[in-house]
Amino acid sequence: MRVLLLSDIHSNIEALEACLSAAPAYDLVMNLGDVVGYGANPNEAVQRSRELGGYIVRGNHDKAVAGLIDLGEFNPLAGMAALWTRNKLTAENLQWLRQLPQGPIQIPGLSDTQFVHGSPVDEDQYLVTSIDALESLLAVPMPVTFFGHSHVQGAFSSNPAENGSLRPIYASVGRAESVDWALEEGTHYLVNPGSVGQPRDGDWRAGFAIFDSQTKTVKFLRVPYDLKTAQERIVAANLPPRLATRLAIGR
Ligand code: ZN
Repeated sequence: MRVLLLSDIHSNIEALEACLSAAPAYDLVMNLGDVVGYGANPNEAVQRSRELGGYIVRGNHDKAVAGLIDLGEFNPLAGMAALWTRNKLTAENLQWLRQLPQGPIQIPGLSDTQFVHGSPVDEDQYLVTSIDALESLLAVPMPVTFFGHSHVQGAFSSNPAENGSLRPIYASVGRAESVDWALEEGTHYLVNPGSVGQPRDGDWRAGFAIFDSQTKTVKFLRVPYDLKTAQERIVAANLPPRLATRLAIGR
C-alpha cells in the first residue's frame, strides 16, 4: 500500500495543489491535520481534503477553528487567524472540521503503523528534538508513527547509529526534489512528512511524503508552488502580513 502523507496544509491551496500535481502514484491519502489556520483559502483547503478521501486526524488549529478549544491557548497571530478562518468557513465545512477524529488512528490492512497530529502520547505535543521524541519511541509499542504539528520534515529513530534524528538532504531550494529513506526492521520510527502549507525548516517549498508499506520506504518530497499568489491572498484578506512573509523563508 502506498500512502500519500499530507500534513499542516493551513489553508494554503496553492501549496496543496502543487503537492497533488507532483505526487507519484499512491493508493490512499492520510491527512495528519491542521487543514486550516494561517492561510487565506480555508474553504478550498477543506473542500480539496474532503474530495481526496482517505483518512484524517484533527490538528490543534482544526480544533480551535471549530470551537473545540479555547483560543486563549493560541499565540495572538494564530488566534487571529483562527477567528478569521471560523468566520470565513461555510457551515458545512465548519461541521466537517468539528467531527474530525483525534489521533492516533490506524488504517485497516496496514499493521505496525499509526497516524497522529502531535505525538502518540498527546495530540497537541510538539516533537522537535530527539529528547522530545524519546518518550514516544520508548513508551509506544507501535513501530512506525507518522506525525505532523512541528512543520519540520524528517524523522526520529530508536537506532542510536542514526543519531536519533534524520533530516532529508536536498540539492537545491528551488526545484522539485525527493529523498528516499528505507525503514529498518526492528527499529522504531516517528516520521514527519513535512508541512504542505507553512514549512518551518528553512525551506519554503511545500513538503509531503509517500510511504510504501511493501518496500518499507518513505519518499520525502519538496515542491515549489505559487508562493506569490498565496502571499497576495493573505494580504488581500487582511490577515497579519507576517503570515505572508514567513512563507518565503520557511519559518
Ligand atoms: Zn500546524
